[in-house]
Amino acid sequence: MRGGAIAIVGAGPGDPELITLKALRRIEAADVILYDRLVSGELLDYAREGALRIYCGKAPGRHAMTQENIQRVMLEHALAGSRVVRLKGGDPYVFGRGGEEAIAAAQQGIPYEVIPGITSSIGAAASAGVPLTHRGLSGSFAVVTGTRAEESSPKTRWDCLAHGVDTLVIYMGTAQIGEIRRELLAHGKSASTPVALIENGTTSAERTFVGTLGGMEKLAASVQLRNPALIVIGETVRVREQLLALERMAEQRVVG
Ligand code: SAH
Repeated sequence: MRGGAIAIVGAGPGDPELITLKALRRIEAADVILYDRLVSGELLDYAREGALRIYCGKAPGRHAMTQENIQRVMLEHALAGSRVVRLKGGDPYVFGRGGEEAIAAAQQGIPYEVIPGITSSIGAAASAGVPLTHRGLSGSFAVVTGTRAEESSPKTRWDCLAHGVDTLVIYMGTAQIGEIRRELLAHGKSASTPVALIENGTTSAERTFVGTLGGMEKLAASVQLRNPALIVIGETVRVREQLLALERMAEQRVVG
């Protein structure tokens, strides 16, 4: 290997400005960039003219490249001496398979680094006005996947999550929203718990809908919620309403 290296890089939650300076520098220096579907196209404009850009997009159910192929191509380029950037939506270590890619690089003895990104729950909560913790309302939050990767993956402990955590943020839960609702209600979470559904968080296409745990399946269907979307469940969702009401009052004062 002649100087090849791999950077497993978090691109942030959607708004290209939310990437880190370190990540941007790796993109600028890269010979090869393997990028995912949820990465903003604008970020690729920072790559050198001659850099090779490889789309690895993984839409739910439709994979442009399998994970095995992505890792094979990533390793091949690094072993041939290239500076490879593996650019992923959000943070590489939050439901991003970044751990598997780091293990693959380490197994080959290739120098690698993992550059964190703002994960979509953190980004979307900020832009939708839902603080994940809030004094008096939420002292803890958990990020949970709504879709288990394989049958052998550990089962989600909805019984514990229903009571043990104040704010739940569910990734990849759109298709399973009915099942998630049923599980949480069956384990005694109140049907009136506020819920926010955030689609395309932090981007210009962001849409946010507020309802309750009891009504969230119908809400998602009525607004035709699409991926990528997050489900935020907890009392802290009420802060959004408070912020919006205050913003409206301030606007009226300015207009008046
Ligand atoms: N590594 C990524 C998550 C990848 S899993 C991260 O740290 O954010 C893909 C899931 O992330 C989607 O199904 C969706 O639930 C969530 N997601 C990613 N970007 C999003 C966005 N801009 N708005 C809402 N949800 C998003």
